[in-house]
Amino acid sequence: MGRLAGKTALITGAARGQGAATARRFVAEGARVVLTDVLDDEGKPLADELGAAARYEHLDVSEEDEWAAVLDAVGPVTVLVNNAGILHLSALVDTTLADYERVVRINQIGTFLGMRAVVPGMIAAGGGSIVNTSSIEGLAAAPLLVAYTASKFAIRGMTKAAAMELGPNGIRVNSVHPGMIETRMLPTALGGIEVDLSRIGRRLPLRRVGQAGEIADLIVFLASDESSYCTGAEFVADGGATSGHALSVT
Ligand code: NAD
Repeated sequence: MGRLAGKTALITGAARGQGAATARRFVAEGARVVLTDVLDDEGKPLADELGAAARYEHLDVSEEDEWAAVLDAVGPVTVLVNNAGILHLSALVDTTLADYERVVRINQIGTFLGMRAVVPGMIAAGGGSIVNTSSIEGLAAAPLLVAYTASKFAIRGMTKAAAMELGPNGIRVNSVHPGMIETRMLPTALGGIEVDLSRIGRRLPLRRVGQAGEIADLIVFLASDESSYCTGAEFVADGGATSGHALSVT
């Protein structure tokens, strides 16, 4: 029997990258999966490829009404993966209010709206697991990422507040903190410019950047009953990036 047999999961930002990898792993482990995204042309074919256990729904996570509509359409879920997110790179003084608000609206408010939307159904079902995708920028800061860092620290914090409130209802809430993962997020933020990630990877203890499937494996664990005593916790998968500090001599 699969590690996620009997569970119904909703994954945001599931058309590509880590969300898509998570949807694949979830179906392989026996879950029923609702893939959601704004990239319908990528998300729908992926759900079709994954077969009868998967379906696709359009969902812009920053829109309160869309959360209500999707949950009306699919019914209650017992696993929520708040994965959708965007990156914006600019110096603090060059970051416009619109830039800042766009990042916070999708990354932070989207995560809040998602948790709020699924909780009544999880309570009625007797429990559930919520996995919120933060980042290593939810643990430590990086230059040029003021909005992103703020949003990812907020996700880490709201994860703990939700875990404290919802634990008595059997709902576990944890955050994942990926390091540099090879997806389209960075090239998208750079307007399509490709970056040689191997140069960054060589500076890490594991000497490479991560792959989307390596984050998906961590999320499978957190969605499954194998993590039954984990809540309000931070799960880091970063190749060792945050194990050191800037004064390291090598
Ligand atoms: P990605 O850009 O490949 O995927 C992000 C997905 O989110 C896309 O499918 C995109 O369409 C979707 N999305 C964007 N705005 C949305 C919205 N308003 N509503 C719904 N969906 C929306 O990037 P990824 O690396 O797979 O990112 C997944 C998550 O992991 C993000 O939260 C990101 O911040 C986080 N993360 C990524 C890295 C990395 O190095 N790639 C590191 C740490 C954390």
